Amino acid sequence: MSQIELINIKKQFENTEIVKGVDIHIEKGEFAVIVGPSGCGKSTLLRMIAGLEDISSGELKIGGQVVNHVSPDKRGIAMVFQSYALYPHMTVAENIGFALSLQKVDKQEIKQRVKEAAEMLELTALLKRKPAELSGGQRQRVAIGRAIVKRPQLILFDEPLSNLDAKLRVQMRAELMRLHREFGSTVIYVTHDQVEAMTMAQKIIVLNQGKVAQVGKPMALYKQP
Ligand code: ADP
Ligand code: ADP
Repeated sequence: MSQIELINIKKQFENTEIVKGVDIHIEKGEFAVIVGPSGCGKSTLLRMIAGLEDISSGELKIGGQVVNHVSPDKRGIAMVFQSYALYPHMTVAENIGFALSLQKVDKQEIKQRVKEAAEMLELTALLKRKPAELSGGQRQRVAIGRAIVKRPQLILFDEPLSNLDAKLRVQMRAELMRLHREFGSTVIYVTHDQVEAMTMAQKIIVLNQGKVAQVGKPMALYKQP
């Protein structure tokens, strides 16, 4: 049984079908990348997995259970967006710990988990700063910290590096891959950047006009004519 299964998933906005019957299986611990041109439906697909968008038809299974109507906070998923949406008036530590405080996690436990996330992301020296006092790369690391502190079984990334400059992007790719190795959770990562997809993915899903065009390991896809 795969951890994540999309079975003939479709999405209609008004009368237009945006996602046209998508089947995807993702294994536990896998780093899967969905790549495709702008407008092909990547974000919509990710938002349906997260529960931020209704599924028009088809089944979404997580751990073998159909979760089409399970609320976002009960899916064990964290999502990192392109725009970081940090809370400007909170420190880095408060931003990272906020989701846990909403869940009424014990204060000492929050402190410990924020500390661990900050160490993984090399943010320890910045915990008392506000988002305005951080660089773009540092802000993106805080956004990732907010996701991993919840210890989700699945992390969704929606073009998380596209606002960063080229050098930082390459550095953050390596950091995300290291984090995935250490953390071991399943990742679905959306990008329009083929190089990013080839570098990071264990499995690549090529989406085109709302349909899966190809699925495979990066090298296998690369070798095709
Ligand atoms: P991608 O992430 O691949 O760039 P999106 O999933 O964001 O693609 O969008 C796919 C298509 O769906 C686009 O044509 C977009 O305009 C359309 N779309 C996305 N969200 C909505 C919405 N809420 N209402 C109507 N159309 C939408
Ligand atoms: P205010 O300062 O008016 O109280 P909030 O604390 O609600 O505003 O939000 C501050 C910032 O955090 C805003 O830029 C908003 O977009 C962002 N934000 C609000 N809610 C969330 C959320 N659930 N997840 C991520 N970002 C959020």
